[in-house]
Amino acid sequence: MDDLLRVSDLRMSFPLNVPFARRRDLAVRAVDGVSFEVRQGETLGLVGESGCGKSTTGRMIVRLLEPTAGSITFAGRDITHVSQGEMRPLRRDLQMIFQDPYSSLNPRQTVGQIIANPLVVQGVSGVRAKVKDLLDLVGLIPEHIDRYPHEFSGGQAQRIGIARALATRPKLVIADEPVSALDVSVQAQIVNLMEELQRELGLTYVFIAHDLSVVRRVSDRVAVMYLGRIVEIGDKHEVYRHPAHPYTKALLSAVPVPDPKIERKRERIVLRGDLPSPANPPSGCTFHPRCPKAAPLCAEENPVLRIHEKRQVACHFPD
Ligand code: SF4
Ligand code: MG
Repeated sequence: MDDLLRVSDLRMSFPLNVPFARRRDLAVRAVDGVSFEVRQGETLGLVGESGCGKSTTGRMIVRLLEPTAGSITFAGRDITHVSQGEMRPLRRDLQMIFQDPYSSLNPRQTVGQIIANPLVVQGVSGVRAKVKDLLDLVGLIPEHIDRYPHEFSGGQAQRIGIARALATRPKLVIADEPVSALDVSVQAQIVNLMEELQRELGLTYVFIAHDLSVVRRVSDRVAVMYLGRIVEIGDKHEVYRHPAHPYTKALLSAVPVPDPKIERKRERIVLRGDLPSPANPPSGCTFHPRCPKAAPLCAEENPVLRIHEKRQVACHFPD
């Protein structure tokens, strides 16, 4: 499979707004050197606790945020510094689904207008018929085209968000926690829909989530983020069955397993302390104050991602 997206040493720092002049130069390194590729037709799951930089990474890819450093190559083209004007034709191929369907849909626009927006921007004609087809595609009733977002349930509203993202027939969709705001019963329906649409339309997804069960379900490969970096990335089965990074192990130990035999053998790993502030990250391996395996080297040297047992891990002592 070819790489559709390649992200290389991507960084994003936000200035820290503190009232003391001498601290003005402080910055929060929200994303601190992230590299990965996404292959044509696959789903890459991006997981980690809230604040680890996964949404920021997604927003940089679709150029809703300007990266501080690094590069983004999409379909063979460097899009890191393209202007908004140059971005317009690219928007067709590069779309995003947001976490909260209601707040991402304009309440004063009808569903028809919302889904038509990306088509109108691209100068497409015959929009109303296309919007009806899209409503049908995502399992909504085409006759509801003139209704407003508040007339729909959360799950239906997310279907509208999906229809809008798919209106221009994109190649890559960044889905930022697309089911986190929904009831558990509705989550499965939306995940099913996204999988069906992927098969039907040949979509490639970056699926951002903090829920490891959902990511296991949808992803081909998975990248685990901690404090703005990827600590482990590889084939889903490898990473879930044999996690190599202590952080991945801890995250997975908290996920319920359907098989009680495995459950008994498995130990829940409880991490010490809280997630440190990205404004003041620990030295060396930023996970070291919480890591059950930390050794003196860990506080001194930041491990880089290295190939280990069919995946890449950033740890001095991977399992
Ligand atoms: Fe733990 Fe050290 Fe590995 Fe970091 S490098 S995850 S502190 S063992
Ligand atoms: Mg987020």
